Amino acid sequence: MPQKKFIGAHVSAAGGVQNAPGNAAAIGATAFALFTKNQKQWRAKPLTDENIDNFKTNCQKHGFKPEQILPHDSYLINLGHPEEEGLKKSRAAFLDEMQRCEQLGITMLNFHPGSHLKKISEEECLQRIAASVNMALDQTENVIAVIENTAGQGTNLGYRFEHLARIIELVEDKSRVGVCIDTCHGWAAGYDFASPEGYEKLWDDFDQIVGLKYLKGMHLNDAKKDAGSRVDRHAPLGKGFIGEEGFIRLMKDPRLDGIPMILETPEPDIWDQEVAWLQSHL
Ligand code: ZN
Ligand code: MN
Ligand code: MN
Repeated sequence: MPQKKFIGAHVSAAGGVQNAPGNAAAIGATAFALFTKNQKQWRAKPLTDENIDNFKTNCQKHGFKPEQILPHDSYLINLGHPEEEGLKKSRAAFLDEMQRCEQLGITMLNFHPGSHLKKISEEECLQRIAASVNMALDQTENVIAVIENTAGQGTNLGYRFEHLARIIELVEDKSRVGVCIDTCHGWAAGYDFASPEGYEKLWDDFDQIVGLKYLKGMHLNDAKKDAGSRVDRHAPLGKGFIGEEGFIRLMKDPRLDGIPMILETPEPDIWDQEVAWLQSHL
């Protein structure tokens, strides 16, 4: 039976990117996320030919194709930074990450849109983010920039579907921009992933405002804080406000087939169980 949904977690790449596919296979995953460099540092050593060859070999060995891999960029990057220096630094780091993906044969890079830091308007920040994406796309090939919805903590943008749509509107090459929906972030921002009616409405809204064709991945996290809190605290599946039923509903939804669905839940020790539980509800 062909696999309809790709399910996995954001696994460790300690010791080198080449270790991520094996770590994903070890928890029974059919998808994975990784950082292609240390996510807390600006600088990174370039990937060696050995890193690249071993990454590709291990992906092949464990059956991971590019559509099953959704790397995450560094948390330091702010593509909508209000100040010239921060913006320049972020754009250079994002380009570097896009190029690392290219080298590894990865076709998507997941990023948080950016923050206005109360120094520029939301609209101006969204324009900067889109300009940053355009610059990175101009200098790379074959990698899709995948915008993640946020919880809207602090001055982070991307917590409304309208923000995602505005960025896409301003990106020149629509074939290389997409969206990753994080269930915890969505819940914290006021999208109801818990009730059947809320669930239908939120995807109707998403399709109308953003367009389902732009959905390239999901982050599956339960939410520790209540709806609309704008606070980003992930919980294990079934241990938060979204609850088991919410995730079973996601597993049964054919609109979400064929994309990587990634756990970023806080207990890596039970990822194998969470993956198996999700698989059992396909
Ligand atoms: Zn993220
Ligand atoms: Mn996420
Ligand atoms: Mn989060």
